[in-house]
Amino acid sequence: MLQSQAGQAGQDRVDALDGGRRPLKVVTIALIVMACLTSVAVMAWSGYHSRALELSGASISASNTAHTLANQANSSFKMADTVLVSLVDKVEVEGWSAANMARLRALMMKHMADMPALQGLFIYDEKGRWIVNSAGTRFDGRNNSDRAYFQYHKQHPGPGVHVGGPIIGRTSGAWIIPVSRRIDHPDGSFAGVALATIKIDFFRTFYEGLDIGSDGRIMMTLDDGTLLLRVPFDTASIGRDTRKDPVFRLRGRDAEIDGATFIRTESRVGDYPARITVLRSKDVALRPWLHSAILSYLALFVLIAGLLLLGRRAVRQIGLRDQLQRDLLTTKALLETANASLSAMAYVDGLTELFNRRYYEQTWEREHRRAFRNRASLAVLMIDVDHFKRYNDRYGHLAGDECLKTVAQAMLRGLRRSGDLAARYGGEEFVVLLPDTDLAGAREVAEKIHASVAAHALRHEASPLGVVTVSIGAYAAVPEQADDPDRAFGAHADAALYRAKEAGRNRTAT
Ligand code: GH3
Ligand code: MG
Ligand code: MG
Repeated sequence: MLQSQAGQAGQDRVDALDGGRRPLKVVTIALIVMACLTSVAVMAWSGYHSRALELSGASISASNTAHTLANQANSSFKMADTVLVSLVDKVEVEGWSAANMARLRALMMKHMADMPALQGLFIYDEKGRWIVNSAGTRFDGRNNSDRAYFQYHKQHPGPGVHVGGPIIGRTSGAWIIPVSRRIDHPDGSFAGVALATIKIDFFRTFYEGLDIGSDGRIMMTLDDGTLLLRVPFDTASIGRDTRKDPVFRLRGRDAEIDGATFIRTESRVGDYPARITVLRSKDVALRPWLHSAILSYLALFVLIAGLLLLGRRAVRQIGLRDQLQRDLLTTKALLETANASLSAMAYVDGLTELFNRRYYEQTWEREHRRAFRNRASLAVLMIDVDHFKRYNDRYGHLAGDECLKTVAQAMLRGLRRSGDLAARYGGEEFVVLLPDTDLAGAREVAEKIHASVAAHALRHEASPLGVVTVSIGAYAAVPEQADDPDRAFGAHADAALYRAKEAGRNRTAT
């Protein structure tokens, strides 16, 4: 009983440890998993965010470039046009005289010196003949009536400016953009054309100096789709009709050319029928972002790997510590069990398995004090086997031992209350302690013990009674003091036992 009680307490503690520790392991694993997931989520979010930022930055810078270039083209066209307006005015007001033309040529040369974008200034008469130009080239029967701008003005009365498709200049041999105005006779009929040519190279040099990313493109087109210039420069493409180019087929906000996606921004050239288009390759724009994203993910990977390794170690150590604690508690429980059985052994008589004298005496003191406090009667029975020396002599010491065991069991059966205590007092003497019992009660118990022993009818041929019997000395009283230093109860019970023996044994005396 004692043993199993101690063992159970130890096991309970081991179970409690299990219940308490397992969540720590789970919490550790959950924390590590959460840390990994959170860092992946944060990284993914910030990666997505910085990609969007990079793209919008590229788009803004492309848009700024387009806007700046459109402004520049606008002011170049405007300057040329302003000169044309003044030339047309002079011819219409002052006439076509040779003197006037000479003055105009001087004026043209002055303008040319001021405007690096201009390739030349020209005035043609109604037949397209060269009348005067900034280069001083002689008439010599040359004729420009075949040019598109000439035909345009001839057929379109009105003071509007005309920007034409790119052509190769007849004086310079270089690609130029013609800007022209019509000259009228005083009656409003067609009198000729004033032309300013703008060098395509002027824009080209400027555009090629811009950084628009390695795959970037700049295009200047007329509203009818004619390409004036593109960078990277390609002579063959000048004058091409771009209306069907994939560049101008929008897909969302981006253009798709040869499988690559481009950020496309456009800006109109002010008052003129032209526009600037700037294209930036998305892949090129995202390259710096991609590099830093790859680095970040590598760092994240290392971080997560480290975290997992560390976590695995932590979880393993928690497991080891739990195992160690379980082992310790199990050992402790075993020790407690062993202790319990040792202390049980210290209070139990090995032969009869009744309590021993030491236990009886401790219990006796406790019960004596309690009876004194409660003013209750306390009874003691001293029991001695009759003629036991002869039993030993007759049947042998081992049979004597068996006899003592049987008498002990018979005695136990004579007891009724749970507080009653039977102990081996020494040799073939036993003692029974009966709390809350008076002398009459003690006698009753003694009679039950006699009957119980008699029921066994153990043969004892050396005894005049023929069977094993016991003599009992009984004493009961209400203790008069808390302690019992003189062992008065024991002495009284002993004296009574003596009287029982004297009176013929197998009886109880008081
Ligand atoms: P009485 O009726 O007057 O009590 O006679 P008795 O022979 O029983 O009394 P005595 O005290 O002279 O003898 C007790 C004997 O009990 C002596 C001893 O050999 C024997 N004895 C004591 N302890 C044990 C034991 O543990 N086992 C056995 N077999 N005998 C024991
Ligand atoms: Mg004796
Ligand atoms: Mg005896």
